[in-house]
Amino acid sequence: MVDEHPEHVEMWTEERTGRMRYRVVCPQCGADYEHRVKPRSTDREFLATFSTEVRMVGFDMLLNHMTAEHEEE
Ligand SMILES: [Zn+2]
Repeated sequence: MVDEHPEHVEMWTEERTGRMRYRVVCPQCGADYEHRVKPRSTDREFLATFSTEVRMVGFDMLLNHMTAEHEEE
């Protein structure tokens, strides 16, 4: 399911700090949730693996929002 909807989770790295952030946007109401993540290193291979986990966490967050806010729909 996560792989089918990767567009719901945006990820980027802050240039100044090198920290990763991610953001999910609700497709129904446009509510967005932005968070900073703390990767253990800046190793690119690690980040590639880590990005999959972030995507799952972000997607789970979106599902929670959908359940809480749009359950009736
Ligand atoms: Zn919503």
